[in-house]
Amino acid sequence: MTEKSVIVIGGGVAGLTAAALLTHEGLSVTLLESHSQVGGCAGTFRRGPYVFDVGATQVAGLEKGGIHERIFRHLEWPIPVAKVLDPACVVDLADGLKPIEIWHNPVRWEAERKQQFPGSELFWTLCSFLHRSNWSLVARDPVIPFRNIWDLEQFFKALRPLNLPSGLISAFSMLDLLKFCGCHRDIRLRRFLDLQLRLYSQQPLDRTSALYGATVLQMGQAPLGLWHLQESMQKLSESLLSCFLRDGGEVLFSHRVVGLVKDGQKSWRVKVLSDKSELLNFEALDVVCSLPPQCLPDLISSEGGMPTSYRNHLSNLPQPSGALVFYGAINRKALQKDYPSHLQLDEDELGSLFVSISRDGDGRAPLGKATVIVSIFADVLYWNSLEQLAYQKAKSITLSKILSVMDSWLNISPDEWLIKELATPKSFFKWTGRPRGIVGGLGQDPLHSGLFGLASRTPIPNLWLCGDSIYPGEGTAGVSQSALMACRQLMKNRGINFDLID
Ligand SMILES: Cc1cc2nc3c(=O)[nH]c(=O)nc-3n(C[C@H](O)[C@H](O)[C@H](O)COP(=O)(O)OP(=O)(O)OC[C@H]3O[C@@H](n4cnc5c(N)ncnc54)[C@H](O)[C@@H]3O)c2cc1C
Repeated sequence: MTEKSVIVIGGGVAGLTAAALLTHEGLSVTLLESHSQVGGCAGTFRRGPYVFDVGATQVAGLEKGGIHERIFRHLEWPIPVAKVLDPACVVDLADGLKPIEIWHNPVRWEAERKQQFPGSELFWTLCSFLHRSNWSLVARDPVIPFRNIWDLEQFFKALRPLNLPSGLISAFSMLDLLKFCGCHRDIRLRRFLDLQLRLYSQQPLDRTSALYGATVLQMGQAPLGLWHLQESMQKLSESLLSCFLRDGGEVLFSHRVVGLVKDGQKSWRVKVLSDKSELLNFEALDVVCSLPPQCLPDLISSEGGMPTSYRNHLSNLPQPSGALVFYGAINRKALQKDYPSHLQLDEDELGSLFVSISRDGDGRAPLGKATVIVSIFADVLYWNSLEQLAYQKAKSITLSKILSVMDSWLNISPDEWLIKELATPKSFFKWTGRPRGIVGGLGQDPLHSGLFGLASRTPIPNLWLCGDSIYPGEGTAGVSQSALMACRQLMKNRGINFDLID
């Protein structure tokens, strides 16, 4: 171990961002990843000629000034090739009315909203104000929630007068905002918001924090945008990994962290199970952990340095949700029309179906064919409670239901599917090591988001958290922002001011 050593746990986008940034600052970083590849929930897998994005299928933060763009600029690495999604998504409420097209151009989106949800402009105007206010705050890299004087300074440095009114509604939900604007009786608007907000906040309308909801609602519009990566989602992780390796970082694949012990005041002993089932010990001054915080009570014992109050806090975090993901491949002509990349359907039994269809020539399927990915929210406790036989049966029933909904919605003949597979929370547990296959981070309700969320600075010295349970929340852009925050705190702790170059 040297004075410069850091261990980063987990090679998803959060861990990779932290590892790449710290190595670029001259620290000696070892990245420990339990899988044989990087990417985690934003990784990919192959089936013959098809490449499937495991979880994330679209990216925010690639536009100029967006978090991924800023980080790649800082690392002096080309940003992965991507196209802006326009429309970002087409939302079908299955009510026989025209689906809602979420356009990239704000004027076009405003016209669509006025047509789809007449009388709701006050609500959208208020959301736009909060959205602008919150994005301006996020772009100045605040530390949220703050846990010491330096954190507090970073928070106040990022604040502007425009941000102050946002503070007044920090206890509000999105439903409160709707009520305040007199639009809460508009059932179509409520269903639309329910569907869209859950994708980002893991919560329905009435439990999504108004600050968080308003921040993400207009993410698909210029000057921001949602992007479709050329080749696959893996490109984002591969680019970060390349920066990390270029700057001298070390990555160990198939190395699963099984324990963390505080050795004395300063250093950490990290226990790792290698691919050869050997128990190895690593030492470092700092540990950056990108795993869901629910993992920590198992990784750190009380004797190993975990205060009881923190253990209790982590053990009582609200249960995040899981996902069922259908991976399909199909001849493009069987799709009947040129659908946009992302669709969302409100279905009676399955709830929200978020559909991602590859573009011809985007590297995911041979020309003339397409990959179709459908994700649905799932109850992790239910899926983990099933015995093997019951599990296989539930999986096959769910797969049939998804296929039947897709076939009738998109008018596809059942024998057109070339590939049809289903991943459950159990599959996500195997792929990402996330406890019970929880995905997407903590739900962003008013009591668990922003200043009331889980801090990247832990009560255990030299242990820093990042990932989708840390501010600002889930998504590749969110977890990169959290990694930047954790790196700035770690560097400051070593007496060095670290900011991204402008
Ligand atoms: C179905 C689905 C759809 C999504 N859609 C989108 C989307 O369209 N756009 C978007 O931006 N986001 C989306 N997300 C969310 C996004 O994928 C995640 O928020 C983000 O990728 C999480 O990154 P992370 O690095 O925090 O965690 P992870 O991606 O989970 O990475 C954690 C890493 O740690 C490794 N690991 C686990 N345990 C250990 C251990 N003990 N030792 C060592 N390594 C370990 C894992 O193998 C993994 O590589 C989606 C997520 C899902 C599940």
